[in-house]
Amino acid sequence: MPYWEKDLETLSRTDLEKLQVIRLNKTIEQATQSPFYSKTLKGKQVRDIKEIQDLPFTTKQDLRDNFPYGFLSVNKKEVVRLHSSSGTTGNPTVVFHTQHDLNSWANLMARCLYAAGVRDTDVFQNMSGYGLFTGGLGFQYGIERLGCLSIPAGAGNSLRQIKLMQDYGTTVGHAIPSYLKRLYDVFLEAGLDPKKDTDLHTLMIGAEPHTDEQRRRIEDMFGVKAYNSFGLSEMNGPGVAFECVHQDGMHIWEDAYVVEIVNPETLQPVPDGEYGELVMTTLDRVAMPLIRYRTRDLTRFLPGQCKCGRTHRRLDRITGRSDDMFIVKGCNIFPMQVEGILMKFKEISSDYLITLDTKSDNDVMIVEVELDSKEFVADINFLGNLTQKITNELRDEILIKPVVKLVQPGSIPKGEGKAVRVVDKRVKS
Ligand code: ADP
Ligand code: ZN
Repeated sequence: MPYWEKDLETLSRTDLEKLQVIRLNKTIEQATQSPFYSKTLKGKQVRDIKEIQDLPFTTKQDLRDNFPYGFLSVNKKEVVRLHSSSGTTGNPTVVFHTQHDLNSWANLMARCLYAAGVRDTDVFQNMSGYGLFTGGLGFQYGIERLGCLSIPAGAGNSLRQIKLMQDYGTTVGHAIPSYLKRLYDVFLEAGLDPKKDTDLHTLMIGAEPHTDEQRRRIEDMFGVKAYNSFGLSEMNGPGVAFECVHQDGMHIWEDAYVVEIVNPETLQPVPDGEYGELVMTTLDRVAMPLIRYRTRDLTRFLPGQCKCGRTHRRLDRITGRSDDMFIVKGCNIFPMQVEGILMKFKEISSDYLITLDTKSDNDVMIVEVELDSKEFVADINFLGNLTQKITNELRDEILIKPVVKLVQPGSIPKGEGKAVRVVDKRVKS
């Protein structure tokens, strides 16, 4: 079984935890150099990794309250780069890196790519935004570390993406999943079929929640294997957790992070295998260590060990962020529950929008979903029956009856960045 760093990736749990304790204590010491942690962590050390539970949490609000330099743990002259989050859920947060931090991030990223079968013989086209968003440069340095020929294409401009793929024989691509359907449509409009007219064999997809059904659709459209890639800028960006070739959960690198899953209300660890909020601690970051950072992402540990032999635990698909959840008529709903149902219907495309509104003092939930271009027919009976079937399945899943509207292919507005799945126009009382 090939590994990028066998010694680290296949450590026994006992040895992994020993390493974590050493690195955590070093990290705490480093963190206390920052104005923020100097108040809360001074003199703290752990003897066993479980003792991490005695340390205070760090929240996104703490990052915002101490913006921009309150978490900086080195002299500013050691810092060589900053990145900030996309700001999907509010003001962006900033993370600083020293040269050491960038090196270890590139290494983690290379480990992820290698585990998913990418090799130095591949031509890798990164269709992610370069700049403050970590998906561009984060991948870039990992691709180069691995030794692939990299094409830093950046986001959007689908015709150019296709041309690059054809000119240079791209074999691996990286993009956000919601973009890939659009790219596929442009292939079709140009009279091309990505399965026959490119050399693509692998796509890395991540940065936004998506269901397994969505992944399978991407694999069918492009004739590739698509691997789930998870990261967040507070923990560097991409390279935090990634599926290996077995596509059986995302390995999270426990030599670089302590990973906990807690009940978001009680903040107590959930029993193994149960869903909760992911909490992460950096173990190899100098400029800006973060201790017990509450990611707000909801997931669970997968039981057992992966066939690949890597011993680091695996995370299940991220079902959403705790703040993605919306409540309609007392029912708690996640966009991914809706997507899971919609993607079962082959007649509809991957693009959908949930609008929450107030009508006569009542909440209404409208689900607009685009018909697949091949299935788009103006037959009233066909559309009526399909709408009814989707409505019934959604009601069984989310326990309220939404208004389902089938709309023409291409009619839901799309931006360049992460897909917006929910618009809340409700009157707040
Ligand atoms: P922002 O929080 O502004 O979107 P980031 O670009 O740092 O900023 O995004 C990180 C977040 O994106 C994660 O916390 C998670 O919610 C989401 N995310 C990243 N990768 C995945 C993935 N593979 N599956 C689901 N969600 C993901
Ligand atoms: Zn594996």
